[in-house]
Amino acid sequence: MEFKDHFLKLRERRGLSQQEVAEQLNVTRQAVSRWERGETTPNVDTLKQISRLMDVSLNTLLGCPRELYCQSCGMPLEDEFLGRDSDGALNEKFCKWCYDEGHFLSDCTMEEMQEQCVSIMVQQGVEESAARQHMASILPRLERWKQ
Ligand SMILES: [Zn+2]
Repeated sequence: MEFKDHFLKLRERRGLSQQEVAEQLNVTRQAVSRWERGETTPNVDTLKQISRLMDVSLNTLLGCPRELYCQSCGMPLEDEFLGRDSDGALNEKFCKWCYDEGHFLSDCTMEEMQEQCVSIMVQQGVEESAARQHMASILPRLERWKQ
């Protein structure tokens, strides 16, 4: 789905008129109307504002060009799993179980993270050695643990 489709759906779901959205974003109603017709796309700053206003990630707004993984625990991210920065904006790097309000919820080591993830996977029915191998291959490549 393209930006214009996402945007229209989000606006309607929130029950906002084009005028109301325009006022909140400090743009003209005509600009909003052009986005919805697919004639123009907002600039990056406006996209960030829309992300805040609609509470969805930029990645979702732009039609999910990237597959997001938490850069701390490696789990696949959807918007409802995203952590938040200190200003309340969605953080597209980390899940809400690793990161919230601008900081990591636990200052564990990579080894401790691996053990936590392994025990969760084991509860979900994954064999322990397979879970450990999986996490050992994923974690060192994530931003939080990369040297
Ligand atoms: Zn995480």
